[in-house]
Amino acid sequence: MLNIDSLEKGIVLDHIRAGSSMKIYDLLHLANLDCCVAVIKNAKSSKFGKKDIIKIEGTADIDLDVLGYIDHNITVNIIDDGKIIEKKQLVLPKILKNVIKCKNPRCITSVEEEIDHIFRLTDDSNQRYRCVYCEQEYQDKSEGTAG
Ligand SMILES: [Zn+2]
Repeated sequence: MLNIDSLEKGIVLDHIRAGSSMKIYDLLHLANLDCCVAVIKNAKSSKFGKKDIIKIEGTADIDLDVLGYIDHNITVNIIDDGKIIEKKQLVLPKILKNVIKCKNPRCITSVEEEIDHIFRLTDDSNQRYRCVYCEQEYQDKSEGTAG
């Protein structure tokens, strides 16, 4: 397994829930980066049993706020000179841009393809987001099936 020491400068996303690293890879558009990105799946974790890790080399300009929406338990370590210089605390982003899509068929984002999908956090404690165009609340697909 790679360790943090092997990274001179960059970002390490640690404690990603096992199996969700590819989703994060897509949402952060890491495929578009021309720097070195390592995805480590099913690493051993004393805390969770299993976890995923993503390492990004260099100082890529990545919108890490979206991680707060996906999973605020992810640890973000900023590495410089081979050392962790900063641990970023993840919070729910106030605005989500092009992360989730409005499901209202009459919403302008359903009609106009070029428009950005923008959601505003309306309820911090319940993690509720509403479309800025039509006020429709975003419903996660996993909701409802959970019980
Ligand atoms: Zn909408």
